[in-house]
Amino acid sequence: MKKHNFYAGPSILSEYTIKNTAAAVENFAGMGLSLLEISHRSKEFVAVNDEARALIKELLDVPAGYEVVFLGGGASMQFCMVPYNLLNKKASYLDTGTWSSKAIKEAKLFGEVEVVASSKDKNYTYIPKDYTIADDADYFHITTNNTIYGTETRKDPDVKQRLVADMSSDIFSRPIDVSKYDIIYAGAQKNLAPAGVTLAIVRVDALGHVERPIPTMLNYKTHVDKDSMFNTPPVLPIYAALQTLKWYKEQGGVAAMEKKDMENAAILYDEIDRNKLFRGTVAAEDRSIMNVCFVMNDEYKELEDEFSKFAAAAGMVGIKGHRSVGGFRASLYNAMPKSSVEALVACMKDFEKQH
Ligand SMILES: *Cc1c(COP(=O)(O)O)cnc(C)c1O
Repeated sequence: MKKHNFYAGPSILSEYTIKNTAAAVENFAGMGLSLLEISHRSKEFVAVNDEARALIKELLDVPAGYEVVFLGGGASMQFCMVPYNLLNKKASYLDTGTWSSKAIKEAKLFGEVEVVASSKDKNYTYIPKDYTIADDADYFHITTNNTIYGTETRKDPDVKQRLVADMSSDIFSRPIDVSKYDIIYAGAQKNLAPAGVTLAIVRVDALGHVERPIPTMLNYKTHVDKDSMFNTPPVLPIYAALQTLKWYKEQGGVAAMEKKDMENAAILYDEIDRNKLFRGTVAAEDRSIMNVCFVMNDEYKELEDEFSKFAAAAGMVGIKGHRSVGGFRASLYNAMPKSSVEALVACMKDFEKQH
């Protein structure tokens, strides 16, 4: 039976990515060796690393003055790396969910943290819009897509301060105005590659303004100066990332991804709004097109387990909601085919007919 992969992360990748990566594990770049056993300094891999970074710049229209680097430690490492490199006295954060609050916790180790607004009061079901950022903040940090709660901002904010964004779960799902940001970071395992690499887009002149010494590996400058090859990079995830980036380009780039993602999300939200058994969990205007969260309506609550089993039997994988929200979450990342979204919707309709 066909499986429909709705996992939140690690998550669905394009067939193109998986096939080409599997082939390179057998024989990489015609070298007669596996991707798993070659030197990261071989000219063949250096070319992969360079092409992947160049394609990120091309797809996201990254202006001059920025560098793209591949880092270790997941997006979670960026929670400390950002303040390590940018926070002198004070930083401002918008608290929109679990990941932002984890970023806030780390930043507090480095200086004063001002939480400009939080939606925690309503279990992060919306994105606060009304707030002011301290003039003297070294930077303002946002999480563009809240993977666990299913809220998203699809607008690049205009702020006077430096701007840092965790785009782990929605990068490449829309064109972005990179010039508004100083650092954008994203763990690979949602919209790019298998787990093991994190990408950062860094405005080079934002670096070098803090007094504290920064450990070599946690200093963005180290990686920028060495073309992201200071130490052994995660070769396989970077190779897979390159395949995904090539596939994005072939599909028409991030604008084409956005169009497809919006259509997929609309198909599912329309069904959630129509179907008497289900309801969405977040404010309509903040609904994420990447992670669609929904629960059973109160009068049908006891059907939750039954629907889980029903959906699993129909080939749906990974739709269990995060424990802090409950219910269901269908993640519709860039590689998600419309046919899988339609299969889930058909399953919801069938289940409704039975009840
Ligand atoms: C998944 C996720 C993270 C954590 O990524 P790790 O690579 O596991 O550290 C951080 N932020 C967001 C928005 C995420 O979706």
